[in-house]
Amino acid sequence: MKILAIGRNYVEHAKELNNPIPDEPVIFLMPETALIQKNQPFFYPDFSSDIHYEVELVLKINKLGKNIEEKFAHRYYDEIGIGIDFTARDLQQQLKSKGLPWEKAKCFDGAAPLGKFVAKEQLPPVNNISFTLEKNGELVQQGNSGMMINSFDAIIAHVSKFFTLKIGDLIFTGTPAGVGPVKIGDNLVAKIEGKELLKVPIR
Ligand code: ZN
Repeated sequence: MKILAIGRNYVEHAKELNNPIPDEPVIFLMPETALIQKNQPFFYPDFSSDIHYEVELVLKINKLGKNIEEKFAHRYYDEIGIGIDFTARDLQQQLKSKGLPWEKAKCFDGAAPLGKFVAKEQLPPVNNISFTLEKNGELVQQGNSGMMINSFDAIIAHVSKFFTLKIGDLIFTGTPAGVGPVKIGDNLVAKIEGKELLKVPIR
């Protein structure tokens, strides 16, 4: 199983980090060891002092595919979930300034808490799915899949040119604006359409 993640997929988030709007999806891969499941806590790592949350909708691939055409991409996932792409922003800045890959800053152990999935039929159309992140009960991020630069289907079409998609693969689809830091003792709650699907205590 592999985890693909899309960077800079929301205009307002790219702007808040002073990144250019990319002309094609920015892709990186995370190892399975990045996942945290079943609302287990996130342990603040000692190599960073600026861990940021990034809430993201997550697709779960249900069919093997390569070079998938955008018009058929909807057949390759039937569940949508929510996750967090924790980012060591201090480390990421160092790596970016040297032109080095991001993995140490985004793909470390526990960097990707993953919540429950919801069947597509139980959700609004895939281009109009709302989601939120709360920190200690306060709304900090609010997004809608309709605001994505690359739609779910466009992402699947693009990534499957390079990476064969297999059953169970996950795609983190990018974060909306509002990213910010966490500290030990914080509690994050992520929701899709108001339904709580993920909790992350920071330890
Ligand atoms: Zn992200």
